[in-house]
Amino acid sequence: MALILPPVLVDALWAHAERDAPRECVGALGGHLDGAGAEAVALYPLANVSPDPERTYLADPGHLLRALRAMQAGGLTLVALYHSHPRGPAYPSPTDTRLAVYPVPYVIADLGSRTLRAYRLPEGTPVALRVEGRGD
Ligand SMILES: [Zn+2]
Repeated sequence: MALILPPVLVDALWAHAERDAPRECVGALGGHLDGAGAEAVALYPLANVSPDPERTYLADPGHLLRALRAMQAGGLTLVALYHSHPRGPAYPSPTDTRLAVYPVPYVIADLGSRTLRAYRLPEGTPVALRVEGRGD
């Protein structure tokens, strides 16, 4: 499957990552599923409440619940989760893989090399990212 991200959401995601650095940022993407893939149309920044936020992330459960409810109210579904790696790399850490529970792509923003990648976890299968469209 492919994940479509409109440029405006990619910009918002990088802005969130830069704002939270050197801590990792975390957030959710809401959108529409369409056959072979998904298109994100809304970005929900979440608080990283990990006790070690420069190395790991843990989305504030209350924030995540509110984001999921906002998606539902807007006719959207969770299409991806994202977090940043302030010093790279652009692939999942062992902790990312171990703690992954959602059946959606995990987007990783590597601020070191300015690379955005997505994976299915815990399998580690890469997901194609396409930056296009306009968002809502
Ligand atoms: Zn990570």
